[in-house]
Formats: sequence, C-alpha cells, structure tokens
Amino acid sequence: MSALISGTILGYPRLGRRRELKRAIEAFWAGKIDEAELRNTAKELRAATREHIKAEGLTADSSVPESFSWYDQVLDAALLVGATSPRFADVSGTWLEKYFALARGTDKLQPLEMTKWFDTNYHYSVPEITLDTPFKADSSELVKQLGEAKEQGIVTRPVIVGPVTFLALAKAAEGEKACFEPLNRLDELVDVYAQILGELAAAGAQWVQLDEPALVSDSLRLPKSELLEFAAKAYERLGGLTARPQILLTTPYGDSSYALPKLATLPVEAVQVDLVRGKLPELDAELVKNFEGKQLLAGVVDGRNIWRTDLRAAFETLERIREAGISVAPATGVSLQHVPHDVREETKLDERLRSWLAFADQKIAQIVVLSRGLAEGGEAIEAELAENDAILADRAAAPGVKVDAVRQRVAAVTAADRNRSAEQQRRDAQEALGIPNLATTTIGSFPQTGEIRKARAAFNRGEIDQAAYDEFLRAEIKSVIDLQNEIGIDVLVHGEAERNDMVQYFAENLDGFAVTEHGWVQSYGTRATRPSILWGDVTRQAPITVEWSKYAQSLTDKFVKGMLTGPVTILAWSFVRDDQPLADTAEQVALALRDEIADLAAAGIKIIQVDEPALRELLPLEKEKQPSYLEWSVGAFRLATAGAADDVQIHTHLCYSEFGEIIDAVNGLDADVTSIEAARSRMDVVEPLGDAGYSRGIGPGVYDIHTTRIPSQEEIAELLRIAVARIPAKQLWVNPDCGLKTRGYNETIESLKNLVAAAQEVRAEN
Ligand code: GLN
Ligand code: ZN
Repeated sequence: MSALISGTILGYPRLGRRRELKRAIEAFWAGKIDEAELRNTAKELRAATREHIKAEGLTADSSVPESFSWYDQVLDAALLVGATSPRFADVSGTWLEKYFALARGTDKLQPLEMTKWFDTNYHYSVPEITLDTPFKADSSELVKQLGEAKEQGIVTRPVIVGPVTFLALAKAAEGEKACFEPLNRLDELVDVYAQILGELAAAGAQWVQLDEPALVSDSLRLPKSELLEFAAKAYERLGGLTARPQILLTTPYGDSSYALPKLATLPVEAVQVDLVRGKLPELDAELVKNFEGKQLLAGVVDGRNIWRTDLRAAFETLERIREAGISVAPATGVSLQHVPHDVREETKLDERLRSWLAFADQKIAQIVVLSRGLAEGGEAIEAELAENDAILADRAAAPGVKVDAVRQRVAAVTAADRNRSAEQQRRDAQEALGIPNLATTTIGSFPQTGEIRKARAAFNRGEIDQAAYDEFLRAEIKSVIDLQNEIGIDVLVHGEAERNDMVQYFAENLDGFAVTEHGWVQSYGTRATRPSILWGDVTRQAPITVEWSKYAQSLTDKFVKGMLTGPVTILAWSFVRDDQPLADTAEQVALALRDEIADLAAAGIKIIQVDEPALRELLPLEKEKQPSYLEWSVGAFRLATAGAADDVQIHTHLCYSEFGEIIDAVNGLDADVTSIEAARSRMDVVEPLGDAGYSRGIGPGVYDIHTTRIPSQEEIAELLRIAVARIPAKQLWVNPDCGLKTRGYNETIESLKNLVAAAQEVRAEN
C-alpha cells in the first residue's frame, strides 16, 4: 500500500489541448479513420496527459487521476458495470461501437437521454435501469489504461462514478416496471463494484477514486439523507473487501458537511469535500477520532471557475483542519473537466487579466504549493503566498473591476424598476399590434450555414473587411426575411447570422467581458463551448443589436422580433467573477440589456424576445439555496425588461417545459409571451398551465428541432388541437421547440411550411 495522498485533482480536461480527441472521434464516426487509429490517438492523448500532470508537479504515486472518457463518465460507468439497457442488447460490434451506440443511438434506436450533470453545463448520458438490467463487471478499459500508465512509470488513480450516484442518476426504464427505484438494486451493483475493485488492485492500482456527488444534491428522486444511508451500506461492503485499492470517496459539487460525520465512520481511506461550494462541519472530537487512519481531502481549489485561488486562505483552512488533528491534503472541489487547459496559451488576452487566471494546469500548480506548505511548513511557501496575495490585490484594484458609475446605478434600482404595468393594461395596449390567434413565429436563429461560418472565419482572419462582412450579413438577413414572408410566418426574426454564439456575441460587445482563444470546455460528448470570462463591472458602450434589428424591420411590413440573451443565461454560460455575489453581477448585465431594449423600442421594434434557456440550469442543488436564487434571477430578468412601454411585447424563450420547482419563477418573469419546448412531451405542459389559469401568451413548441425529421402538417395540427383544448387560441403561439441554427435549409423550409399550414387549419376550426 502506498502512503497518503499529498494533494490531487479530481479529474482533468479530456478532449485534449487542441481537442484532439474530439477530432479523432468525429473522424471515426464519419468513417474517415478506423477504430485502431482512434484508439491510438486516445492512447497517445492519455499518455501525454499523465506526463503533463506529473510535469506540473503531481509526482507522487496515485496523485495523477486516470480520468479519461470516450464520451461521458456516467456512460463509462454503465459499461464498466455492464448496465447497458436491454433495448441495446442486439447492437453488435466492438466494445467501442456499442459504447457509441448508447451515446448516439443507431438507425433504429434512440440514444440514451442526456441531462445536466448537477448544476453544471456538462451533460451526461442517463443510464436506463430496469428490474432485470444485467450487471456484469467489465473493467477491461480501465485495466488497459492502468497498464499503459505503468509502462510510463506512473501509478495512476482510476476515477469512477460511485455506485450510489450511478443509480441515483439512472432512470427506471420505460414500460410497466418503470415505477421501481433503481437504487433498490444497489446491493447487486455493489457486488459488481467489488469485483472491479479487485481487478483494479490486481492491475496495480493503489488508490481508486469513487465519486459520489449525489450526496450533495436535493434535486434527485430521493432525499440526500436517504442517499447517505445507501452510501453507508455500499461503502461498508466495499471497504470490507480484502483485495482492493485504497478508496478515495469524493463528494464534489456542493455541501456535504451534513454527511461528513457519517462518511468518517466508513471503512474508506480518504474522503474529499468540496469547500468551494460547501463547508466543513464542526471538527469535534468524535469527527477527529473517526478520521484516525483516514485522510480528509479538502477541496479548496475551485474546479469550476478560472480564477486563481486565494492560496493564503486555502492554506489557513488546511492548517486549521490539521491542527484539529485530522490528516489533510489539498484537492480541487470538483474535477477540472469544467475548465480549459492552460492560461499560458491565451497569448492574446490582456496580460494583466491573464495574471489573475488559473486554468487546469495553473490549478495543479496551486495544489502543489499547498501540499508543499503542509509538508514543509508555511514559511516554505511564504514567497508563493505573498506573490499570490499581490496578484489578488492587483485584481481587486484594477481599473474596470469596480466602476463607480455602474455601482451607483445598481444601488439606485428600485422595486418600481422591476415592474411593468398590469397585465390587462399591457394586453390592451398590445391589441394594436394586431397579432392573430395562433400566431406563427420561430425562436430566433435560422440555419448557420457553411457559408455563414466561412464568412465569419474570413472576417476574423482579416481576409474580408468590416464593410464586406456587414454586406454579407445584410444579404443573409434579407434572404431570411424574404423566406419567412414567402412561407407566411406572422412574426418574423432576423435569423442571428451575425452571432457565433448567443452568449459570446453579447460578451464581445459588452465591457467587463473577455473571450479566450483556446478556452474550450466539454459540454457533452465531443461538444465543447468556449465560455467568456466576466471579469469586471459590465457596461454597454453602444447599442449592440439595434442596427441589425432596424435593418431587418425595414425589409417587411410584418413585425420582426428584437432578439437578446437574458442576464441569467449570459452568466450561466460564462466564467463569472467570484469576488461578488452572482446576484450583483446579474443586476449589471440586466441594466445593460435594459438600455438595449430601450434603444430597440426607440428604433421602432415592437416585439422583443429575451432568451433565458439557462434559468433552470443555475438552480442550486440545495433546497435552502433555491428561493434566493429564484428571487434574484427573476429580479434580473424583470429589471432588464420592465422598462418596456405597455405596447412593447416582451417575449422569452426557455428550452424545456419540465417546470417543476421553477413554475412560479417562469410566471414571475412576467413576459407577455413565453415559448417553450413541448413537442417531445406531446404538449404535456398545456394542461397544468390551463388548469392554473395561465393568462399570458404561450408558445409550446410544435416540433423538435434536434433531428432532421420533417413534421407533417397533420401531426402539428394534432398537437395544436391538444393545446387549444386547454388554452384559448388567442393566447397560443405556434413555433418550433427552439432555434434553427443547427438545422439545414431543406428541412427548415418544409417544416415551417407545414407549421404555417397547420396553424391555418386549426385557426379555421376555432
Ligand atoms: N434565440 C436563440 C436561437 O434561436 C435561442 C436559443 C436557445 O434557446 N438555446 O438560437
Ligand atoms: Zn431553446
């Protein structure tokens, strides 16, 4: 057995510094490379990653995590325990072909559903568990990776989603047995984990990391107190095994202080807590005693954000734990899979801003400093602490971080600034817009064609100038407007051709944000996004969207919607500053958008949509934190929109319709019209809305834009009839589920023609 862990990270970015894995996997899917070549690329990437993490300073045995994934860590775990839903039983091919079949579906089979991983932007594949889904250990991939590491002379620590979290995140598969609880099969699953641990030990693993973030969430089927009971049972059994690696049990993404006293009694060798999002319980004598012979890994370095950690504060926390009598080592709060690789690559970023940042590699370096401080004493790292203090002080005092005018304006916001006039009064004023019943519209973007991407790239490389690029965009907008008029859509959009991304576009046009070159972060599978960095007080120097909207409106007699991204979504999809509450940052963004809306309205734009697809995503995992989140997020949206006059119609768009715990918040947004996703659930949402006497406009999506399938006029009409049976036609809008940017023109045109025809058909019946 190896010694204690002296400091570690819970995981490392997986797509590669230049997204090599993404490219190789996509080439494999496209048939351009074979499996051998893909496996070779992946193997090289893993080797380079281990080497790199070690070179950054994690040199001790087992401090390098073996956290590679072909697509998703939950899917990895599903294959590791053989829990591949029975409906995939007939899929043939290699291990990897089966794996990708689950991830992406086949001609005949829908893929596993994807859903958000805790309160992050990362999405995982949801395992389907039935009463008789087989569980069968297959540790071949992990064992192979351990072997590769050994050849490199590195002892790595396999990282696996733990059994409780695996089942808590799984869903009971459809059919008559769907109402059973997957966690009831925990004992069987733990048997399989037991076998896997034995195999990993035999392959040379000295430690294994089992991630149990389910223990911090209030948003799962079972309360976390019950999940803790399940975990206690599982780890009693796993800990009792004789042939196994030492176990590091982690509880990232939230607060596990309630659970720590219990976890300390379990027969594992180390427990990790996330001290960025969570807190420590009281370090009383009993806890200290239960930690005898165990280690506490204190997650003091933020794995979800890109700022340098306050090393001195982190070191004080570590020392306090040690002084209480617990053996402690520094760790990240969560896996570094949520941050980019390396700040040093961002050569175009302002140098001063760059000095404040820590991406994955810099976070490793921070862990290494803290470990050394624990080993050699505070004086040994005093130079590093002092340097870090100076950088933090520089950040706090830098121009733009705090702008007096912005702060004064936020401080002067009153309740009245968040309230529009009464709904009825607005409705009366908006009568004049002459919007028909069952008005047809789209969510904003039109297909982002290869031509658009090419023109943008040429402009970014300086191959075409601003005037030429603007000319191109105007032509694009004109063709989108003409097309909608031809099809007969009632309320038009300009198509968003000028936006590379609905958040980055605003980030590029607001002060207080910076954008990176290589700051990619995996969002699911081979998909990655490049979040902007919100580092300072937010101001709008000039109108952003107004010229485009004005131009689009000038081309038609119908209304063209102004199109903005809401404050909550802008924050959710950026790296936000950590030196003030998110709520305060949201107010600043809201005020910038409020000015944009005022300018749009002054330019004659009568309908303005403010998208908030991320409203639900930021909802905190812990129940007690939810009310205050909902209050500030709704408040920010209202601050952005409530300056609009009565006759300006405010729309919002949310990408989902399972409102559950946020239904009051959606209502609280007080938008005149809300469009939502509803086609896949066959309009399930209209019934509760109708029952609740919902009185504003609602556009339940009538077709799913995630596939190339063209919905027929009849099926859209059918869905609309379901809706009009519950909600007056006057309130109903007819639109797709979401924006069309990922679709091609062929299917878009056909689908929208059918949508318009279906709306006319049902309008005639009412
Ligand atoms: N207006 C955006 C679009 O149509 C909304 C996208 C979204 O909700 N994610 O692309
Ligand atoms: Zn959407």
